[in-house]
Amino acid sequence: MNKKDYYEVLGVSKDASDKEIKSAFRKLAKQYHPDVNKAPDAAEKFKEAQEAYAVLSDESKRRQYDQYGHAAFDQMNGGAGFDFSDFDFSDIFGDLFGGGFGFGSSGKRGGSRSRKGADKMMRVNLTFEEAVFGTRKTINLTIAENCEKCDGKGGLGEKTCSRCHGSGTVTAEQRTMFGAFMTRTTCPTCNGTGSTFETSCSKCHGSGKVSKNTDIEVKIPAGVNTGNQLRLAGKGDAGVNGGPNGDLYLEFYVKDHEFYVRDDNDIYLEIPITITEAVLGCKKEVPTLYGNVKLTIPPGSETGDKHRLKGKGIEDLHSGSKGNMYVILNVAIPDKLSRDQKKLFEALADTNLECNDKFRKIKEFVKKNG
Ligand SMILES: [Zn+2]
Ligand SMILES: [Zn+2]
Repeated sequence: MNKKDYYEVLGVSKDASDKEIKSAFRKLAKQYHPDVNKAPDAAEKFKEAQEAYAVLSDESKRRQYDQYGHAAFDQMNGGAGFDFSDFDFSDIFGDLFGGGFGFGSSGKRGGSRSRKGADKMMRVNLTFEEAVFGTRKTINLTIAENCEKCDGKGGLGEKTCSRCHGSGTVTAEQRTMFGAFMTRTTCPTCNGTGSTFETSCSKCHGSGKVSKNTDIEVKIPAGVNTGNQLRLAGKGDAGVNGGPNGDLYLEFYVKDHEFYVRDDNDIYLEIPITITEAVLGCKKEVPTLYGNVKLTIPPGSETGDKHRLKGKGIEDLHSGSKGNMYVILNVAIPDKLSRDQKKLFEALADTNLECNDKFRKIKEFVKKNG
């Protein structure tokens, strides 16, 4: 038996991802499916691709194939090659051929089944304060609702579909290289609903859905952050055939604060202090989320010194416990001095300000280096 390499058949590399394999197979299946391609070698190519996909899309089969090649399946099946007749291709063929392409007898898709409506996603912009303390928002969105005029059915004067007699599906014999199969497909006359209408609904133009612009009130809990999502069950599009509504997902985007920087539930605030405040120490009024507090800055403070204000951070969305606030000092060195100030600094310069051992050490190093 001289079989083509499965990777070659699909035109993918040996380390192709599952996604690449699936997409390569979809392309080939579309090209060579006997329903669409009547060329004499199309069926053979389609079969090859199907077999390659059945093996390479299955993690353990792919491993066996990588290790033993075609022999892996020849042994298993007494030399008959890999048997993939029970492989479920429905998820591929389903959306490839517009739904309802049942393979063998496993026609999984019943068109008249009720389906959940589509989920909606909306981005909601919040100010820093709204995110931290929670808020109420009116969200305006457009959703698909069932048409009132036709009760979501798309037409008026409902009667049983004459083509499928209400079942929503039609069966047809399909000849493939594996033999003849009875395939069940969605009835093209009623699109699987099992009924047709005397007149198409003029309000929704047969879709059964109308867009509706609506406002909903949403309570946004305290502590949300950018990227957090809130699910509002049943606030999405109306379901199909009596199915439940889809959900609405709100995704938050929190604007930066002018002064506070947020890190999860902690917040950081940089405050400038003067050179004398740094040297002599001081008391500073510091704004927190919960009002101002007096912070004692000890003598000898430096830029980057961090003061923790316990529990002055953001309340956790789930646990309710509060993060911390960190005040970061930034010693501002004046770049312009008045004449008097300059005199004072000059007087200060005449005193010994070499306050630690590092001065002595670097001086020694300078000496040695020279
Ligand atoms: Zn029908
Ligand atoms: Zn309607």
